Amino acid sequence: MRTPGMPSKPPSIVIGSDGGISIAGSVVIDGHSNVSQRIRVVTHIHSDHTVNLQESISSSYRLVATQLTLSWLQVFGYSATNYLSLEAGDSIRLGDLRLRFLKSLHIPGTVQVLVETDDGTRILYSSDFKKPGEGTPVEEADVLVIDAVYGRPSYVREFDDYIEYLLVDLVKQLLTEGGVRIYGYYGKVNEVMSILRQGGVDAPFVLAPKVYMMTKKAESLGIRVGDYVLAGSRESQEVIRDGWYVYLDHSSRFTPGSRDASTLVLSGWEFRSPIRRISSRTWHVAFSDHSDFRGLVKYVSSVRPRKLYVVKARSSGAEEFAAYVAKNLGIREVY
Ligand SMILES: [Zn+2]
Repeated sequence: MRTPGMPSKPPSIVIGSDGGISIAGSVVIDGHSNVSQRIRVVTHIHSDHTVNLQESISSSYRLVATQLTLSWLQVFGYSATNYLSLEAGDSIRLGDLRLRFLKSLHIPGTVQVLVETDDGTRILYSSDFKKPGEGTPVEEADVLVIDAVYGRPSYVREFDDYIEYLLVDLVKQLLTEGGVRIYGYYGKVNEVMSILRQGGVDAPFVLAPKVYMMTKKAESLGIRVGDYVLAGSRESQEVIRDGWYVYLDHSSRFTPGSRDASTLVLSGWEFRSPIRRISSRTWHVAFSDHSDFRGLVKYVSSVRPRKLYVVKARSSGAEEFAAYVAKNLGIREVY
């Protein structure tokens, strides 16, 4: 606990150009650093958080991540032999620090990281998150390191609270006319599968190879999504012929103009309308895994840090965000 009137000196925090956060030379989070004591935390599998991971593995760093993140890293070709799985709520001791994972609502497997010193100084790294105070619990800390992905005041989505319902309704409606193809980032499409099932969409999923492998791994850890088949398999051809299916793949493989299915592209960079039709059978859906600007401000004001670092490598509008919170939340030390 913090001792009133006895401000303690926080351990050193260094944020590298790759976004890696080194704390007290004991651990590096979501980036690589040569000065850490060979412990690399991976908060989730998105590529801007696994940056230089191969270098950490080659240097025999011990990887610390949730079980799901560790098994998804295998899908992306990372084969670490030195690792430790830690779930949200669990903690480990690192010298005179305690490192704890906190739950986060982003893609499955994501965590926030809280590092506490023996004298009670708390350092929190947000990683990516959405719905602070609801799906993402927020704890107070002396020092906050945040990824301000939507750091500009104009980055506001008024429909964040109900976009899931709109997405489910749209998919249900389109399924009455034939198959539906959904494109989004890895992890986001896995989250969408769960949302569709919870919303009562029973059509089989046809999954591109990487999404299929991620789903298999998740299933082996108890995360079930009902019927799914591998795209290109004989089963998938039958399912597609029936015309009642949801196909899911990474956004990079979206090709416009498909005539045999309705197509949805998921993007957090839509601010004006939740669903926008861009051609006769293609829609942009503003489904994001990140808080918008208002959510970021809410998160910071709930953490109430004395000192704030905005990770430039993973933020859009880092300077604007830093200036806003310094002025409006009264945080004196903002970097
Ligand atoms: Zn992410």
